Amino acid sequence: MFQVKQIASRAWEWLDEGGDSFYLVTGNNTAAVIDTGITPGAQILPEIRKITDLPLVLILTHAHIDHIHHMDEFSTVYLCHSELQLPEEFLREMMAGKQLDLSGTIDIRTGSRIDLGGNRLEICQIPGHTPGSVAVWNPEEDLLFTGDAIGSGCGVWMQVPGALPLTQYEENLRRFMRWLLDRGGKMRFFGGHNRQTAQSKLLPNNPLSMGLLADLIDLVHGVVTGTITGTPSEAKAFSDETVLYAYFGRAEMIYLASQI
Ligand SMILES: [Zn+2]
Ligand SMILES: [Zn+2]
Repeated sequence: MFQVKQIASRAWEWLDEGGDSFYLVTGNNTAAVIDTGITPGAQILPEIRKITDLPLVLILTHAHIDHIHHMDEFSTVYLCHSELQLPEEFLREMMAGKQLDLSGTIDIRTGSRIDLGGNRLEICQIPGHTPGSVAVWNPEEDLLFTGDAIGSGCGVWMQVPGALPLTQYEENLRRFMRWLLDRGGKMRFFGGHNRQTAQSKLLPNNPLSMGLLADLIDLVHGVVTGTITGTPSEAKAFSDETVLYAYFGRAEMIYLASQI
């Protein structure tokens, strides 16, 4: 049901059947799970327990259905509370029939640190895909977990309900880029759906990277200023409005004309 792979000396990645990635980073006294994927009717905790016996915390990159589903298996959960701005009805849909306590989570913001004992995680907000999307950085091994904030290699979804206007997303991406450069800019990126690196229209394999992030900034800027025009896309629509696809360099984006 799950594929697991060690990605660094103290980090592991799971891929569930639906193609969702979630991660584990261990310290000396605590371990952090980042996102949960969605495997209805199953639990992810037994999978995590095959790797570590340490007390666990869960960090959610954002409040979408395929990232939060198993949060009820954890007692300590971190989430940027800007996610609570999403419409209540939409958040209820994201719970897929479960009663998940989003407002009972611990709020995280840019600058929040989670100490694992001899290893730590730092948070950077990237509002766009959702208002409370965050990236999680592990300085010790220079790993960066980005959820869906910049896509996973075949385009960021900005057509989802509650996504921010592209003008704001562009500014937030530039701020994110500066935050990464201030910390060396050599991170290894891990998105929320790692299999998507092989589903790009542009390259046979298109992993997330600083280069892709730079191209994404140029892409969003091009769409905002009108130098790049999207074409109709078959990606999932959440309203009657035509969904558009645009690309620049290595970066792809799904969006709505009304959202610029
Ligand atoms: Zn996702
Ligand atoms: Zn998402």
